[in-house]
Amino acid sequence: MDQIRIKGLEIYARHGVYEEEKKMGQRFQVDAALHMDTRRAGRSDDLEASTDYGAVCRRLEEVLTGNCYNLIEAAAEYAAQDILLSFPLVEKVTLELHKPQAPIPLPFSDVSVRIDRGWHTAYIALGSNMGDRAAWLELGRSGLEKHPACRDVKMASLYGSLPYGGVEQEDFVNSALSLRTLLSPYELLDVLHGLEREAGRERLVRWGPRTLDLDLIFYDDLVLDDPRLTIPHPDLENRDFVLLPLCELAPAYRHPLTRKTVRQMLDELRDRGEGQVTDKKASDLQKTDGYGARR
Ligand code: ADP
Ligand code: MG
Repeated sequence: MDQIRIKGLEIYARHGVYEEEKKMGQRFQVDAALHMDTRRAGRSDDLEASTDYGAVCRRLEEVLTGNCYNLIEAAAEYAAQDILLSFPLVEKVTLELHKPQAPIPLPFSDVSVRIDRGWHTAYIALGSNMGDRAAWLELGRSGLEKHPACRDVKMASLYGSLPYGGVEQEDFVNSALSLRTLLSPYELLDVLHGLEREAGRERLVRWGPRTLDLDLIFYDDLVLDDPRLTIPHPDLENRDFVLLPLCELAPAYRHPLTRKTVRQMLDELRDRGEGQVTDKKASDLQKTDGYGARR
């Protein structure tokens, strides 16, 4: 991707573990690479179509002098996030924060921290089979939309589906979301769990009834397999109640391991004659169970 690069921006600031550093301050330097598509700006020769590097420098100055961190790791983290939130065309930022006057009692020329941060694309499956299911899904959607590190949240239609996994329970309403996020996969999972708790979810039975289930399906092309988090979601290919709404948002998205598209996985599942989705409307389902309306 194209880059706009800033090199050696000097900022006098007060980051450091020692009292003296916080009181006196010292000279820092920033190198930044703003990863963005400069094509439109290049063709139109219009600043409006680009990212104003002068404004980026002023913003870095503001952030790094307006706060006082112990660690240059924290200063760099905060500055990178601020740039990504303030300049919408910037997809990724590489930021190096130099501290050439760091208190090291030996001759040295520089010490620095360099980080890459950026926007990621995530797909999330939503499900509910208690009470006002559509309202629980909406709680999940709006919770993500309101999160400061998430943007461009889009939600597919709602689908009624039969319970999956062998536990006798009420029918589900399912949907899917796509979004852009600055959160890491684990941070995003924590946010999803927070929203499930907000929906009053209790984990009593595995695959049992739930007000709100939020599963992370894809996170860029990441493959992750550990006890806390498996991405892509391991049972994706067997769940039409995930693939159908996902197919509205990203039919051509490829599973990073099998290279199958979402549409292909859905077609194959239908060819096997499997699937949980029914033609019941979401609005009909919530009136049929014993859990009542949303609190
Ligand atoms: P399920 O969604 O299978 O019905 P739960 O919602 O109760 O089950 O989640 C159980 C655990 O699964 C969570 O605590 C979470 O750490 C783990 N998990 C692993 N991979 C994922 C994923 N891709 N999305 C959501 N949770 C996941
Ligand atoms: Mg879950």
